[in-house]
Amino acid sequence: METIASISTAPGIGGIGIVRMSGEKCFEILNNIFIPRSDGKIKGYSIKYGNIINPDNNKIIDEVLVSYFVSPKSYTKEDMCEINAHGSNIILNEILELLLNNGARLAEPGEFTKRAFLNGRIDLSQAESVIDVINAKTEKEKQAAINQLEGFLSENIKKIKNMILNILVNIEVSIDYPEYDTPDVDRNKIYTELDNIKEELIKLENSFSTGKILKDGLSIAIIGRPNAGKSSLLNKILKEERAIVTNVEGTTRDTIEEFININGIPAKIIDTAGIRNAKDEIEKIGIEKAKKIAEKSDLIIAIFDITKKLEEEDFEILRLIENKNAIIILNKIDLCINEEKIPVEILETKKKYLKISAITGDGIEEIYNEISSMFCLDKIKPENNIIITNTRHKQSIKDALKNILNAEETLRLNFPEDIVAINLKDSIECLNSITGENVTDEIINNIFSKFCLGK
Ligand code: GDP
Repeated sequence: METIASISTAPGIGGIGIVRMSGEKCFEILNNIFIPRSDGKIKGYSIKYGNIINPDNNKIIDEVLVSYFVSPKSYTKEDMCEINAHGSNIILNEILELLLNNGARLAEPGEFTKRAFLNGRIDLSQAESVIDVINAKTEKEKQAAINQLEGFLSENIKKIKNMILNILVNIEVSIDYPEYDTPDVDRNKIYTELDNIKEELIKLENSFSTGKILKDGLSIAIIGRPNAGKSSLLNKILKEERAIVTNVEGTTRDTIEEFININGIPAKIIDTAGIRNAKDEIEKIGIEKAKKIAEKSDLIIAIFDITKKLEEEDFEILRLIENKNAIIILNKIDLCINEEKIPVEILETKKKYLKISAITGDGIEEIYNEISSMFCLDKIKPENNIIITNTRHKQSIKDALKNILNAEETLRLNFPEDIVAINLKDSIECLNSITGENVTDEIINNIFSKFCLGK
């Protein structure tokens, strides 16, 4: 394959920056521009110290360390090198340009990992996990991605495939060699085995609800009428002044989104525009958007100013949360001198309510605890479980399960066994698509196009 190169570290200034190269001509190209301080044969897993020079004028570009990886023991299974230079954009771009001028071509996003997959070092589900490892926002999300990278999901899929193959072999022997005295297929045994397979697939499919939370995070919308304290609450949660806090009604006209970490689970928290009957066109759009976001979110935090009487806008909010996961927040308890009265309309919702002060921070911790127990976040333990986090995998598992259910039905209806065999083969095909044994170039290109440059 062509030799590819790219800068692999993030743009910006850093202690070091890395330019990576992979392919047949890797060491030949490197030889043109790298003068190591010590001679000697290239060995894999070794590092040489020296200068990168421009061969046209012998000018030194930078003092570097070069790591060598000799095929097949490298990330891509090809000859590879990583040039560790000083972390300056100018230097890294100069080095990259030299590599390109000397016969390499610029790598596409994710092309190194794509080669690792195409050259058979990792399967597709492992390759997909690489981007999840890089993008992980919390420890638990990262753990789920690392497990997938280590091949736990692939192993599980292989195990299920073998279970299906076992049935298939039994059936096919009796179909292919009817003249031999092979024992009839034991249908009861097949039912039991299909049940076991179903159980495994359902377990994987169900893990996606957790996986989705791990990967996309919980979406939490904060709604409330203007001045209830939405922005103050968001700032308190984020421990920074992210949202503009003013006592002028209607300052949050659009939405603000931030990620927070609740017990290792990412949560996207959205501060919406205050709900009220706005006259201003822009504000009206903001309010409609807020309602839509609240409807789509996993959880609504409905915030009320405990020092004020409930008004029509508040009742509208109570109606909005009626059939949704919601926590009611009674804000500004620091302003309550006497024992505060909880409005009866709030008590009637039967929803959990918490008294807080977005200014002093009282009660904020309880919001975290409540969210955690509502979504059983403590029970999400990627270290001990295989969790599907990828929609593509979930769809393939669903399709595989459908074929197993079809096989069961075909058997029940006493159809010929070769039809059962077709259902089972289709199920295996669905599972193969997870590990990438039968996927089209289009799917592969689509997956890797979402990667960053240099990975
Ligand atoms: P929003 O319109 O719902 O986003 O409300 P803000 O967060 O902008 O707050 C409106 C006003 O109420 C500001 O002057 C805040 O300082 C004040 N405020 C918010 N929360 C509290 C609180 O818990 N206690 C007190 N005393 N004032 C608060």
